[in-house]
Amino acid sequence: MSIKAQSILKHVAVTFLWLMLWRVAMLMEYAPHASIWFPPSGLTFAAFLLLGWRTLPSIVLACILATFWENLLYVSHRDTLDLLVTGVSFATTHSISYGTGALLLKGALERVNNYNLYQVVMRFLLTAAASSLGAALLGCSVLMLTGAVSTMNNIWLAWWIGDMSGTLVLTPLFVGLINRLYPKLGYLHSLRFTPVHDYKAPYSVKLLMTILLLMGIMLITSFMQSIEMAYFVFFLALPQMWIVYTESPYRSAVSLALMSLITALLVPFLALQEFAFTYQFAITVIASCTYFSMAVPALVSDNQQLQSKTHIDPLTQTASREYFFSVVDTQIEQARRYRYALSLVLFDIDNFKEINDKYGHNAGDEILRSVCDTIQAMLRKTDTLGRFGGDEFMLLLPQTDLGQAHELTEKLRRGLETIQLKKYDCKVSSSFGVAEISPRHGFEPAFEAADKCLYIAKRNGRNQVNSTLSEPSVTKELLPNP
Ligand code: GH3
Ligand code: MG
Repeated sequence: MSIKAQSILKHVAVTFLWLMLWRVAMLMEYAPHASIWFPPSGLTFAAFLLLGWRTLPSIVLACILATFWENLLYVSHRDTLDLLVTGVSFATTHSISYGTGALLLKGALERVNNYNLYQVVMRFLLTAAASSLGAALLGCSVLMLTGAVSTMNNIWLAWWIGDMSGTLVLTPLFVGLINRLYPKLGYLHSLRFTPVHDYKAPYSVKLLMTILLLMGIMLITSFMQSIEMAYFVFFLALPQMWIVYTESPYRSAVSLALMSLITALLVPFLALQEFAFTYQFAITVIASCTYFSMAVPALVSDNQQLQSKTHIDPLTQTASREYFFSVVDTQIEQARRYRYALSLVLFDIDNFKEINDKYGHNAGDEILRSVCDTIQAMLRKTDTLGRFGGDEFMLLLPQTDLGQAHELTEKLRRGLETIQLKKYDCKVSSSFGVAEISPRHGFEPAFEAADKCLYIAKRNGRNQVNSTLSEPSVTKELLPNP
């Protein structure tokens, strides 16, 4: 399809979707021209945000067509010129308000750090509130100038809140949708995090619970016709926060949209017009809380990524030196408390320099990875394999005494001999030093003992295991007398 045809299709799609949302808003009216929320404002804001001023013709056309369609639906019999003036005025005030707001936001997001969720949310909430206020005030002024209404009292406030909830709830949903359809656009990177806490309940269950709670509250409010009961709708913030903390930002936006849609449908259906303002405020407040609360799972997710970066050696995916030592501290404490044996193994790949020189650094890296994968596969889940640096590694073996550690290490040594690399024809072996950690004396003496054993293994011809069992003098030399 040619670029021109694609562009026309995009305009038609925006106009069509806008009119559909407008019609849905009309179906949800609880009084003539008054709906709990005005979904088209969310689409207008998102369209300007994503497409810029290019989207202007589609929005203007949609506003004019909506004015004519409304005339048909309300059977008002207004003349064509009058309708055209009203339609153009509506299109102008609507587009100026949302277009300016969205483009200012777009500029601000490009200038400030797009990765900082707090700044993104703050700017979005402020521009959405200001744009909808502008749309409401300008729209009401036009109505007064054309004589459609005699006073702006009350109308502007309901218009503002309705437009604002439509913008707050739906703009992120549309932007999220576009992000999913066109990930290459790379819009709003800060919203691309995966929440880390996955509680057992699936999203559908959370969504169902939220909807049932909302319907229950609205049904009881309708039955009791009490404002106190209507305020209970603010409790929906609780399941919504549950979703925010455990699901993706996109899913949070979907649940918010669904919640708002059901509220808007039920207000006229259950004759809750008297409490319409309460529901509008509830939607606006829950939407704002939703976006601000996303900062917490985003932060947790960032922290986790950062933590795994510092805990894991990127090349071999084994524990980093710092993390290994922190595990050692905890394990010594536990071994002391629960009185179990703890052993330490140090190992260093044999003649690794030669391998690097002969086959290149990439081959060396591949060997490091294969050695670690082979060893990791032979360990228990409670054992820790860490990289000390270069081709030297450490193993911490809880609930393993010196004899068992020696035996296991011998198995590991033989395991490494079986490594066969696809691209390089070279043999791999390693020398090992083993010592038991005495919880009373701590890590240092055991480390020195294992290091000395490793040195002896290298000196004795490499590819062998040496422990304080085979070199009792090492222990005697290093461990203080009890
Ligand atoms: P020995 O048997 O005595 O241990 O001899 P060796 O050649 O293995 O000597 P040594 O352990 O001192 O050599 C370590 C070499 O490992 C030196 C360095 O170039 C190489 N090396 C360190 N880190 C890396 C790495 O991340 N990737 C690769 N490919 N090589 C590394
Ligand atoms: Mg080496």
